[in-house]
Amino acid sequence: MVEYDVVIIGAGSVGVPTALATAHDGLKTLVIDSLPSVAQADNKHAIGGIRATHSHKGKIWLCQRSIEIFSSWEDKFGDDIWWSQGGYTFLAFTNEHENLLKDTVELQKSYGLNINYVDTEKIKEIIPGINNNGLLGGTYSPEDGNASPLLSLHSFFRRSKDLGAKYHFNEKVIDILTKNNRVINIKTTKGKYKTQSIINAAGAHAKDIGNMVGIDTPVEPESHEAGITEPVKNFFTPMIVDIRPCSDPKFGNSKNYYFYQNKEGKIIFCITPDPNILGTDRTETSSFLPQISKRMIQLLPRLRNIKVRRTWRGLYPMTPDGNPIVGEVNEIEGYINAVGMCGQGFMLGPGLGELLSRISTEKTTSMDKEILETLSYTRDFGVEEELK
Ligand SMILES: Cc1cc2nc3c(=O)[nH]c(=O)nc-3n(C[C@H](O)[C@H](O)[C@H](O)COP(=O)(O)OP(=O)(O)OC[C@H]3O[C@@H](n4cnc5c(N)ncnc54)[C@H](O)[C@@H]3O)c2cc1C
Repeated sequence: MVEYDVVIIGAGSVGVPTALATAHDGLKTLVIDSLPSVAQADNKHAIGGIRATHSHKGKIWLCQRSIEIFSSWEDKFGDDIWWSQGGYTFLAFTNEHENLLKDTVELQKSYGLNINYVDTEKIKEIIPGINNNGLLGGTYSPEDGNASPLLSLHSFFRRSKDLGAKYHFNEKVIDILTKNNRVINIKTTKGKYKTQSIINAAGAHAKDIGNMVGIDTPVEPESHEAGITEPVKNFFTPMIVDIRPCSDPKFGNSKNYYFYQNKEGKIIFCITPDPNILGTDRTETSSFLPQISKRMIQLLPRLRNIKVRRTWRGLYPMTPDGNPIVGEVNEIEGYINAVGMCGQGFMLGPGLGELLSRISTEKTTSMDKEILETLSYTRDFGVEEELK
């Protein structure tokens, strides 16, 4: 039986950058995925937003490192992953949202993040043509950005293979074997591999993997839709986040929506339905496009004639508090969680991959330990992050 230092379940937003880090750190690495190639589950459904401006310490630190990796990738390795440092802006149209954003900015600044609450004039400058009726201002964080999820993952994949990582596609993990509460083997539809370390990066299916070792994994898939337009001349750079809830008797209610213009000039957009839609349905609906286009055109009227090329639906692997579950577990030695990425797995992936490798090589720093505490599977899941 072939032996690996670490076996990663899932070649997605988390699994691939993790393999990159473990192979880089000299671990004999195997990644197993049931799908035919890399990034074919929810990584390819992500719209590509990358920000460090969270209000959760662990996610801030992980995404700061991710941004360093995304932003220097092309210079270091020559592949254009469409990284663009266009920033993020969250808009305030009510006093309640203005106060919430101002409070969050203070907290974010205390972590050294480059973010400010700016006035309407500044928002009009960064979003030319915005309908500023009722607009009070918003946040602006110029160091956040976006990149192509598929180009990024394919480039990380190639680099990880150059460093020695092995990938097995079309192969499903069906069991994890343990002895004396320690991982010893992993069983798939095609064979068995010997390993003392397994990383669960199975995205929407994380719970099934947890069940194999009797670990309760509170990750439930949730359906989210997105779309992309034809390309037009680039006219704004940030990810625009409109946090106003909206009730729409015809197409359904929504909590917020967000969109940006990518390097090719295409507008990519996404909405958060209200209530959330639990389940694994990836079939796009006919209500999504009229629902979101109404909101987007109301905010940015110059989008009214743009053509939408396609829409799609994917899954957020959600946890009860909207934050990932990462780290070792007390019950089984050699089993590591990297699950519950919610709507942020693409942006967390590179920073998280390095942290997971430091866990596997027993080189965690004091900062890692602080991050892991905030993402522990034994934490109190009752507290949700503001603006998650
Ligand atoms: C519409 C939409 C927009 C989004 N926008 C963004 C965004 O702008 N920025 C952002 O950061 N995130 C975004 N996300 C969220 C992001 O896509 C997810 O958080 C992320 O892809 C989850 O990463 P993952 O590695 O956990 O899962 P995945 O990327 O889904 O990878 C999991 C892999 O595990 C494999 N697997 C599962 N079970 C098994 C098994 N038993 N055996 C073998 N393989 C298995 C699957 O086949 C899959 O390839 C968005 C998501 C959606 C749906």
